[in-house]
Amino acid sequence: MALIPHVIGGEKITAAERTQPVYNPATGERQHELAIASPATVEQAIAAAKEALPKWRRTSLTKRADVFFNLRQLLKQRTPELAAIVTSEHGKVLSDAAGEIARGLENVEFASGLLHLLKGERDEQVSTGVDVHSIKQPVGVVAAITPFNFPVMVPLWMIASAIACGNTVVLKPSERDPSASVFIADLFREAGLPDGVLNVVHGDKVAVDALLDSPDVKAVSFVGSTPIAKSIYQRAAANGKRVQALGGAKNHMLVMPDADITVTADAAISAAYGSAGERCMAVSVVVAVGDVADRLIPELTSRIGNLTIGDGTDPASEMGPLISREAKERVESYVAGAEAEGATIVVDGREQRFAGEGFFTGVTLLDHVKTDSRVYRDEIFGPVLAVVRVDSYEEGLRLINNHQFGNGTAIFTRDGGAARQFEFEVEAGMVGINVPIPVPVGSFSFGGWKDSLFGDAHIYGPESINFYTRSKVVTTRWPSPDQSKIDLGFPSNH
Ligand code: NAD
Repeated sequence: MALIPHVIGGEKITAAERTQPVYNPATGERQHELAIASPATVEQAIAAAKEALPKWRRTSLTKRADVFFNLRQLLKQRTPELAAIVTSEHGKVLSDAAGEIARGLENVEFASGLLHLLKGERDEQVSTGVDVHSIKQPVGVVAAITPFNFPVMVPLWMIASAIACGNTVVLKPSERDPSASVFIADLFREAGLPDGVLNVVHGDKVAVDALLDSPDVKAVSFVGSTPIAKSIYQRAAANGKRVQALGGAKNHMLVMPDADITVTADAAISAAYGSAGERCMAVSVVVAVGDVADRLIPELTSRIGNLTIGDGTDPASEMGPLISREAKERVESYVAGAEAEGATIVVDGREQRFAGEGFFTGVTLLDHVKTDSRVYRDEIFGPVLAVVRVDSYEEGLRLINNHQFGNGTAIFTRDGGAARQFEFEVEAGMVGINVPIPVPVGSFSFGGWKDSLFGDAHIYGPESINFYTRSKVVTTRWPSPDQSKIDLGFPSNH
């Protein structure tokens, strides 16, 4: 069985004290073994990144930009191959995998504008004969730790901007679908990135802790579940690093009584069940205001009946399996407990049968969900959509604002005033107005509020340029000797 290697200083390293299987979720088969990094292997990757740093930070901005222009071409050309890798280890359907690559490409395109992005500021004559300018310099070695659900897009959220800013990177992708990261490292190399600038190590807590505790790692970008995000934030911050740690979500879609039912039902189904609900921006709660649920539920139910669930490589499939057997059991246990918690099971995903040993589950629709229940409070991360009925906009807004998570949210309405009020009042980092999955385009930044993000910088886009650089401010004066004198007073700008 093929052993998936680490990539350190441009070398593929397979020596490993420990390995672990990587499954094909559609068949349940072990398809690869993964080398799991020991602390020594992680140290080796950090050392390679540290060694590559001085040369990479001296590389001209134009040469750096060239790498991103080349990479953009390569990623476009090789999308079908990369999508097939994603589908074989993650399970999402091929078109969805290609969509994820397209969204990751936005970050490469953003990074290719680095000459503009890294421009500093200058102020002339702040005092007589004194000018000031600021520059942005790389922070050093950056650790990027990523989740299973977007094995291409989320690594590109981090490494594109980090590398463009002149940093070097150690990427620790999810151990459940790691091959895409190795493929991306190969493409970067082909695009002209020098060895050691992007390193990939595979592993678990042991590898992550080695990154968090290394004094040579200066910044940590993390995306994953909330408990891990919080612990990463605390440990990295305690070690004096800058850190952004994005966590889980429970995204609410507020449906006003005036919303177009066809548009709303199509959006809710797509956003709840796409990628089997394993998206941090998936809609998992519909908050139905007034009588709208009575009209919406039949529309949702009829659409569910037409969904095709199957192997992601089959073009007819609209939804693939979950990532693992444990994920399937966890999701189904939430459905099993829903009725006892007061919900009505309108469609029960456990009833759908699938041939073979794949990690499939059907889609579930729950109505009359109570806000003190586990299915409402917890991130389920599967194809389960909960409908909560409320009497008014205010009651719906209160629910959203009181929830632990504040990643994305959406309002569906035809009333511009209601939409504007929602945008103003809602406590979430990303808001959609008749847009169910409002993932910002690459020229904006992505991030949630509350327990969906620990740290103060959103990821990718303009905020990433600040996160991955340190600013330096230079004050300049060219006095002639006849203007020079001793003055022990504190310099003032007059
Ligand atoms: P996860 O938290 O289990 O794993 C994320 C990363 O952390 C992986 O690389 C994993 O190896 C590592 N890790 C796991 N346990 C660890 C530990 N104890 N100590 C240190 N590192 C550890 O998340 P996942 O299951 O891979 O991904 C799904 C989660 O990610 C969901 O909660 C989802 O909402 C979230 N997510 C959030 C966003 C966002 O932008 N906010 C985006 C994608 C996914």
